[in-house]
Amino acid sequence: MTMTVEHTLLTRVPDALLIGGRWRPASDGATLAVRDPATGAVIKEIASASVEDGGAALDAACEAFPSWSETPARVRAEILRKAFDLLMERKEDFALLMSLEMGKTLAEARGEVAYGGEFLRWFSEEAVRAVGRYAPSPEGHGRMIVTQHPVGPCYLITPWNFPLAMATRKIAPALAAGCTVVIKPAELTPLTTLLFARLLEDAGLPPGVVNVITTSHSGAVSEPIIRDPRLRKLSFTGSTPVGVRLLEQAAGGVLRTSMELGGNAPFVVFEDADLDKAVEGAMAAKFRNIGQACTAANRFIVHESVAEEFARRVTHRVAELRVGRGTDEGVEIGPLIDDRAVSKAESLVADAVERGARLRTGGHGIDGPGTFFEPTVVTDVAAGSDILREEIFGPVLAIVPFSTEDEAVAIANDTEYGLVSYVYTESLSRGQRMIERLATGMMGLNMGVVSNAAAPFGGWKMSGLGREGGAEGIHEYLQTKYTLTPSPFA
Ligand code: NAD
Repeated sequence: MTMTVEHTLLTRVPDALLIGGRWRPASDGATLAVRDPATGAVIKEIASASVEDGGAALDAACEAFPSWSETPARVRAEILRKAFDLLMERKEDFALLMSLEMGKTLAEARGEVAYGGEFLRWFSEEAVRAVGRYAPSPEGHGRMIVTQHPVGPCYLITPWNFPLAMATRKIAPALAAGCTVVIKPAELTPLTTLLFARLLEDAGLPPGVVNVITTSHSGAVSEPIIRDPRLRKLSFTGSTPVGVRLLEQAAGGVLRTSMELGGNAPFVVFEDADLDKAVEGAMAAKFRNIGQACTAANRFIVHESVAEEFARRVTHRVAELRVGRGTDEGVEIGPLIDDRAVSKAESLVADAVERGARLRTGGHGIDGPGTFFEPTVVTDVAAGSDILREEIFGPVLAIVPFSTEDEAVAIANDTEYGLVSYVYTESLSRGQRMIERLATGMMGLNMGVVSNAAAPFGGWKMSGLGREGGAEGIHEYLQTKYTLTPSPFA
C-alpha cells in the first residue's frame, strides 16, 4: 500500500460536521486529531462538535422527520439499496480507511464492509414489510386495526471497534422505519462514519435525515440531546458502564432505548468436540478484530480430558500469528486501539499468572511505535482471576479446565454479561441442552462467529436491551398503534 493511496483517500474524507445537509466546522472552531494506532501518527484533524452543534444536529433531524416519515417505504428502501451498491463499489476505500483509523487488517476490514453492507441490503428489503394487521374483536362488535409508526428522531452512538458495521446496523433500520437520526461515532475512529455519510448523500438521501457529529466531548454534547423531549429514541453500542449512565439520562424522557453493551463470552469445549473444528472456531472467536469485539470469546472452558491437547494446538497457532500494521501484506494481528488497552491486557495476564496460571506464549506489550500486544495463551486460569470477570478486549486466550457438564454451565453463566456463548460438542442432545442452559442472547453451536444481518443480534443480562438485525431490528425504530372501530355490521 503506497502512502499516496492512503493520502488521497484521507483527503477525500470530510473533516466537518454534517448538519441539515451542510458540512460545517464546529461552532467554536474546535478540532480533534485522529491517529493511526499502528504508528501513533495523526492522520486527520476533524471538527469537534460543541453542545450547540449537538443541538443544531437534533434541530435538523426534527425538521427532516415529517417529510422523511411520510416518504413512501419503497423510496426509502431504494435509497438504502443504492447505498449498498455504492458501498460495494467503494469497498476498498472503506476497508483501507478502517484499517488506518482502527488498526484491523485489510482482510478483516473487507469482511466488515461485507457485513456492514448487509444491513443496508437487509433493511432495504424490510422497509416495505413493516406492516400491521386488521382483525375482528373476539366478541364481534369491533374491528381492531394495528399500525406501525416511526418512533421519531433518534440519537445513535457507536463504538470504535467496528466503525462501519455499528453505524449501518443502526442507520439502516432507522431509515427503513422512517426515522431521522443524529449519529455520533467514537472519537477514536470517526472517519468511516464521515465517509459513509458522504456516500449516503450520493445515494440520494435528503438533507437532515442523517446528521453526523464528531466530538471529543461525548458526555457533554450527548446529555442535552438525550434529555431533549423531541428525541424519541436512543440507540447505543459501547461499554456497559456508559450504557448504564445513558439509560439513567434516557429515563427522564421515557425514551425508547437499544443497548448493545459489553460481553464476557464463554467458549465451551466438551470432551466429545471435534478438536480441529474447535481450534478453528477458537481462533476466529478470539482473534477476530485483534480480540477487540464484544462477541470475542473471553473464557475458554475446556473439558479436562482435552484441555492440554486443545492448549497445545491453539498455542502452536497463536505463536505463529503475524503481528503488524493492518495494511501490510500477510499481517494477521494489528495494533490495539491505544496505550490503555495494552496496559489492561498486560495487567490481566499478570494477575492470572500471579494466581497460578501458566503463560504458554506472549503476555506482553510490544515496544512502539504503535500499540501492539503479543498474541497470548494462558492456561489453568484460577477461579477469581480478573481475566475471567472483565472483558479482555485484546489477543489473549485464557483457558479454564472443567470436569462435568454442570460445572461447565456454572462457570459459563458466572458473569453479569450475557451476549454470546460458543459451544463445541458433537452430541446433539448436549448441544440442545446448552441452548436452554446458557444465559446468553446468542450462541455459536460449533461455530466461532455468529454475526449476520438477517439475525437478531443482542444480549441478555447486562449485555443489553433490544436487538439489531433480523426481522426484529426494524421494530426498535417503530411504535405500535391500535385503533378500535365498530364492526361494519353493527
Ligand atoms: P465506550 O462505552 O467507551 O464508548 C462507546 C461510545 O460512547 C463512543 O462513541 C463514545 O464516544 C461514547 N461515549 C463515551 N462516554 C459517553 C458519555 N458519557 N455520553 C455519551 N457518549 C459517550 O465503548 P468503546 O470503548 O468505544 O467500545 C468498546 C465497548 O463496546 C466494549 O465494551 C464492547 O463490548 C462494546 N461493544 C458492544 C457491541 C454489541 O453489539 N453488544 C458491539 C461493539 C462493541
